[in-house]
Amino acid sequence: MRITGFRHRSVAVPVKYPVVSSVRQSAKVDFVLLDVMTDEGIAGIAYAQAFNRHGAQAIRACLGLLEEVVVGEDPGKIERIWQKMWKSTKLLGHQGLSTFALSMVDIALWDIAGKAAGQPVFRLLAPKGAVGTPSGSDSSAPAVPALPAYMSDGLWLVTPQEAAAQAAAFAEAGFAAMKMRLGRPSGEDIAAYRAIRRAVGDEVDVMGDVNQGWSPAQALDAGAQLAAEGLSWLEEPVDAEDDEAHAVLTAHLQLAVATGENLYGIRPFRRFLQAHAATVYTPDLQRVGGVTGWLQLRDLFEANNVRHSVHLFPEFAVHLLASAKQPDKLEWMSWASALFQEPLECERGIVSAPLRPGFGMEWNEPFIDSIGS
Ligand SMILES: [Mg+2]
Repeated sequence: MRITGFRHRSVAVPVKYPVVSSVRQSAKVDFVLLDVMTDEGIAGIAYAQAFNRHGAQAIRACLGLLEEVVVGEDPGKIERIWQKMWKSTKLLGHQGLSTFALSMVDIALWDIAGKAAGQPVFRLLAPKGAVGTPSGSDSSAPAVPALPAYMSDGLWLVTPQEAAAQAAAFAEAGFAAMKMRLGRPSGEDIAAYRAIRRAVGDEVDVMGDVNQGWSPAQALDAGAQLAAEGLSWLEEPVDAEDDEAHAVLTAHLQLAVATGENLYGIRPFRRFLQAHAATVYTPDLQRVGGVTGWLQLRDLFEANNVRHSVHLFPEFAVHLLASAKQPDKLEWMSWASALFQEPLECERGIVSAPLRPGFGMEWNEPFIDSIGS
């Protein structure tokens, strides 16, 4: 099989709960969609977040470069193609959009691999003992990985009243864990946390994400206050690259410090691990080199015995985490759901991997046409 070319386009998908965080405000989420085509009629798909239309244009320009690099290659030689793409983007820099594009191509190649083998991607990835490994005496039985998820699709920087109403609805829908955003002006975060806690009771796991919005001193102070009130997880409390501040917070706060979604490639994770700078790692597939990059991280996390999940992309993450020995909760986000004919579902807080070949996702073309590009 040979790669014959790419098709890519950009879309802006309206979302139910407008995004309001320490770094971003938006009522739509910008995506770039990619199809990697082959001479045998199999196409692999991937998507990436572009953040705005300029980001989308730049990612598509990088995809143009990579298309020239990979056309004619055997799509099954994923490692070889990954290395070629990495080399071809060295001078553009790997800490940015060229890695978004590289990661998209890699994800699409894994989709092709699954489709060519007639297997869901989790089967291609699963080592012995992983969630997605067939168990019991009948090894041909289709084991469907079912992963507990936490609700991330809401609880933005809204008023305490609004946050409480959303949290109550999420608990009612069966979520045992949910993540609120933090970074409101002084005192308002704690009011929002208390409103959520009152709405959901003591049994629900309430997590928090600052999106890098605090200084180290603020994080130490607010983190301690929220930990005392029962917050279980504090994500990206400070600048994402600041391993020293993360290490201080991890050592001093009585909660899990989570980070990783804004680290590029594998190396910074090694640095963070050496510094004991987090409790839980949440790599982002479009920043770590797609599935191939993530597999290195999975092995690194497992060798170091640290908790890890994946940032967003539930359609891909469900396959990946099913190959991990002890994955942390999957981040549930429905932003991309409408893009697919058979969207991934989250039922009572559980996400099951589709058994269809590849990632099991095909574009919902009528929907994509309806929102334009
Ligand atoms: Mg986050």
